[in-house]
Amino acid sequence: MRKEPLENLYCLRCNRELESGHKSVALYMFAQTVGVRPRQKSTAQRICFCAQCSVSLAMGPAPEGALNVAAWKMIRDLVGADPALNEAAWENLRGVMGYLQSAEAEVVPRQACAGEYIEF
Ligand SMILES: [Zn+2]
Repeated sequence: MRKEPLENLYCLRCNRELESGHKSVALYMFAQTVGVRPRQKSTAQRICFCAQCSVSLAMGPAPEGALNVAAWKMIRDLVGADPALNEAAWENLRGVMGYLQSAEAEVVPRQACAGEYIEF
């Protein structure tokens, strides 16, 4: 019995771990023989991209290679059809910016700016 590694998915592009419930795009791929009996079918592969990578791939130029172009077209379809992925990508970006800003604030304590308001 083969165990499919369906848990702990990682974005193929940036290697970010995709927790369940995270907005992402999954590509399923399998191969099967045609015109051959009995028909042979490969195991299915699942490839995942996080929301940010999906959006940036979809916005980017077409990649090289027939398989890559096919995947790129599918991702474009999904990203173009629903703004939820775009929003998730922006939310992730804002989260990173917020983290950077709070880290900065810890290093450089906020200056009290009350003096500016004392002038009449
Ligand atoms: Zn990613």
